[in-house]
Amino acid sequence: MNEGIKSPKLIFEEKKAIILFLWLFNLIFFSWDIYYYGFRAYTNGEAVNIARDGMGIWLYVLVLGVLSIAIFLIKKGSIYKVKYLYIYSYLCIDLIDNLMRYLGTTKDFATGNIVELLFILFSPIFVNKKYFWVVSLGFIGKDVLLGLTLRDLNLLFPIISYIVLSAIAYILLNRFYSYILSLTSAYEELRQKEKLAVIGQMAAAIGHEIRNPLSALKGFTQLQQERYPNTNEFYPIMIQEIDRINSIVEDLLYLGKPRALNFEKQSIEEIIAYTLSITQQLAERQNIKVETKMAGPLPPIYCDEKQLKQVFINLIKNAIESMPDGGRIKIQVKIIENLRLNISIEDEGYGISDEIILNLGEPFFTTKKDGTGLGLMVTNHIIKDHNGELNINSVLKQGTIVEVILPINQR
Ligand code: ADP
Ligand code: MG
Repeated sequence: MNEGIKSPKLIFEEKKAIILFLWLFNLIFFSWDIYYYGFRAYTNGEAVNIARDGMGIWLYVLVLGVLSIAIFLIKKGSIYKVKYLYIYSYLCIDLIDNLMRYLGTTKDFATGNIVELLFILFSPIFVNKKYFWVVSLGFIGKDVLLGLTLRDLNLLFPIISYIVLSAIAYILLNRFYSYILSLTSAYEELRQKEKLAVIGQMAAAIGHEIRNPLSALKGFTQLQQERYPNTNEFYPIMIQEIDRINSIVEDLLYLGKPRALNFEKQSIEEIIAYTLSITQQLAERQNIKVETKMAGPLPPIYCDEKQLKQVFINLIKNAIESMPDGGRIKIQVKIIENLRLNISIEDEGYGISDEIILNLGEPFFTTKKDGTGLGLMVTNHIIKDHNGELNINSVLKQGTIVEVILPINQR
């Protein structure tokens, strides 16, 4: 898997795999040599030569040395490094061993070590593409290099078999990859949902506590304003700000409890017209023109009117806030195949960078000084409740198109 994802579960899997690999490697490596230089030589009537050619006994010393470093790394917790330690050390040791054995001699190259098959066939277990490429290209490269240096055609056989085996290993690796990817994304989704549930409960509790004192505060402020109309120019601002806190609290409460939805036949034209009347002042203040274009007479849709209004207020506010120096907002409503409505809101604002797009809809994610980071999240919830879809396309410094797609007939 990606080296970045180091969940405890995956580290545990990697550790299991690496320990199995260490056992198999050393078992196969040493039994192969015992068979090849001991048993086979013995039955062929050759001299039993445990000190073999090439590096001789030093080869075994090196392999055991690598094993000790591997055990040390595992103890230290650097599990992910062990497989690379093995492949790189093996490639170096084997290359040197073979060069010492064959360079300058007329001996034919005897087939490679059987542990190389283990390396290749075992590589998908680590579910790591980089490691897979290091292993297969490492072995193929090593044998090509040896073949060229020793000018020995016998190396063609291991090269071809490694290519075939690598292809098989690659297919396995891809299967593992998609399997693990779907598991981790399901896990992420679950975690996100849990997080939301906790935030929701907290938000609802706090929101509830704030609402009552807030309405008292607003009432008394209005009273003061009526009593002393000419004494304080700050009253309207105070009331406006209290309203702003109120709308934040409304959003928080929305997160907390699943709303009872009130679906009725509604006209989307009216909903959008209402939304525009609410946001008009804000737009004018920022020198923003709003154009609307509706495709002919639109069929009514089943929806919760209050909540859909909230959706468009949120989206149009975001569009306005993205254009501090003025510009144009285009709102278009189209019918798709008589089944769905596509409502797009296009602005000419500062746009959204790729990094930020990944965070959209996360609770409390905002790039604004006085943003709440709740608008898109609530919007998303409401649209999901309507079996709809929200798409956001943006080009940095050019603008953003937000599309809301809603089914026309819900029942
Ligand atoms: P808030 O508006 O309070 O920041 P939202 O959930 O409405 O919270 O939006 C989250 C973030 O998404 C914003 O802070 C902004 O960075 C980005 N965003 C949303 N809509 C737009 C838009 N039309 N243009 C540029 N950025 C946007
Ligand atoms: Mg917003």
